[in-house]
Amino acid sequence: MNIPTEKNLKRVIIIGAGFAGLQVAKKLRRDKYQVILIDKNNYHTFQPLLYQVATAGLEPDSIAHSIRNIIKKTKNFFFRLANVHYINTNKRKIYTNIGNIFYDYLIIATGSVTNYFGNKNIKLNALPMKSIPEALNLRSLILQDFESALLTNKIKEKKKLMTFVIVGGGPTGVELAGALAEMKKYVIPNDYPNLDHNYMKIHLLQASTRLLDGMSIKSAEHAYKSLKSLGVSIWLNCLVKDYNGEVISMDKNKYIETSNVIWAAGVKGALIKGFLTKDMKKNRLLVNSYLRTIRYKNIFAIGDIAFVKENENYPNGHPMTAPPAIQQGNYLVNNFNKLLFDNSKIMKPFIYNNFGSMATIGRNKAVCDFSFIKLKGFLAWIIWMFVHLVSLVGFRNRVIALTNWIIQYFHYNKSVRLIIRPFYRKKYLKSRF
Ligand SMILES: Cc1cc2nc3c(=O)[nH]c(=O)nc-3n(C[C@H](O)[C@H](O)[C@H](O)COP(=O)(O)OP(=O)(O)OC[C@H]3O[C@@H](n4cnc5c(N)ncnc54)[C@H](O)[C@@H]3O)c2cc1C
Repeated sequence: MNIPTEKNLKRVIIIGAGFAGLQVAKKLRRDKYQVILIDKNNYHTFQPLLYQVATAGLEPDSIAHSIRNIIKKTKNFFFRLANVHYINTNKRKIYTNIGNIFYDYLIIATGSVTNYFGNKNIKLNALPMKSIPEALNLRSLILQDFESALLTNKIKEKKKLMTFVIVGGGPTGVELAGALAEMKKYVIPNDYPNLDHNYMKIHLLQASTRLLDGMSIKSAEHAYKSLKSLGVSIWLNCLVKDYNGEVISMDKNKYIETSNVIWAAGVKGALIKGFLTKDMKKNRLLVNSYLRTIRYKNIFAIGDIAFVKENENYPNGHPMTAPPAIQQGNYLVNNFNKLLFDNSKIMKPFIYNNFGSMATIGRNKAVCDFSFIKLKGFLAWIIWMFVHLVSLVGFRNRVIALTNWIIQYFHYNKSVRLIIRPFYRKKYLKSRF
């Protein structure tokens, strides 16, 4: 990896430059530690806005930021673009596609991956939305479908191409359904005047009895009503069984014919080989309240990948969202910078401050659940936009996103409907593009 060994510095390797890992990498003391950050991408992804890339609302570079550009303090700092595939906890070494390297301390912040709950057909045929390439696939697929639907006079084929099924009624599913409904309303009549937009159907499938499980009933009901008014068909209590690329089948013998299933039904920890089953819980790495793994004193886990054990308030682990990841990153770097782990000083356990959650449903429509107030509608939408804008990494990205949103607001127009990189379906349908 071409990284020198510093005798007087402890080496800290951070795997993952997401919300959690970046906090540590940016703030770790360079006078005490040699800091090595490793990520399989050379950019940080702002995942909450992936759905806008997928629905042609934002260009990918508005929600991605170069890691080398984010970390300004380069003394005793090394970034390596690499995929870590194995950790040898005895030898204190990590193994990657560009070589291996030893650590004094290891911080695992690898986030999560899409969870298909073991269904191979769904994995093969449905589209996930967990990364920028996947969001771009989705964007291309949606636009290609519209183009293909224009070419056929067979109504069945047209309908199949223009039917979008989103599995998972959490914030991602709700946001995606709202954005697609707006495409139907504003984009198709404008860009495809010869395509009857009534053929476009959007279905949102949710296994539980309501949308937005993690939010209040009030917000869930508002989201339900708002999506219904946008023409989205919502299926509650609906368990998906299979998807063969043509037909999605659910329980109670229900099915929908569609070429497009978007899988937003769950994530699981992005585990790296080298740990035993007893080191994990619910597909995440088990850590104590100091975010230290149970069996290895020099290995820590933060963010989506970490399951903090014996936490009364969060018996199923902290929510796999950005705020816990950021707070855990800040908590850990603070302990490292005070040299608490080296000196075995008394530490305070990590406590997550939950300020609330929010989801947008579409133009002028959002829900915000804060501990002190619950909001919906226009005000919630403005707050949602503000929070996402200030959370984006980099001034340039904020300006671009804001400009895009303002233009779209007044022109009812999604600005980046480009098929830059055609999407080819894996098995069933061949693309014309
Ligand atoms: C579509 C979508 C919408 C979301 N919306 C919201 C929202 O509105 N609000 C909210 O709070 N949260 C939202 N989330 C969740 C939020 O993005 C995550 O909880 C958050 O990103 C977790 O941060 P993290 O640092 O743990 O992991 P991540 O941000 O996922 O970062 C993990 C990093 O590790 C790298 N990595 C992984 N494995 C390896 C490996 N083996 N080798 C090298 N590098 C590796 C990845 O490339 C990545 O950069 C959303 C997520 C998605 C997918």
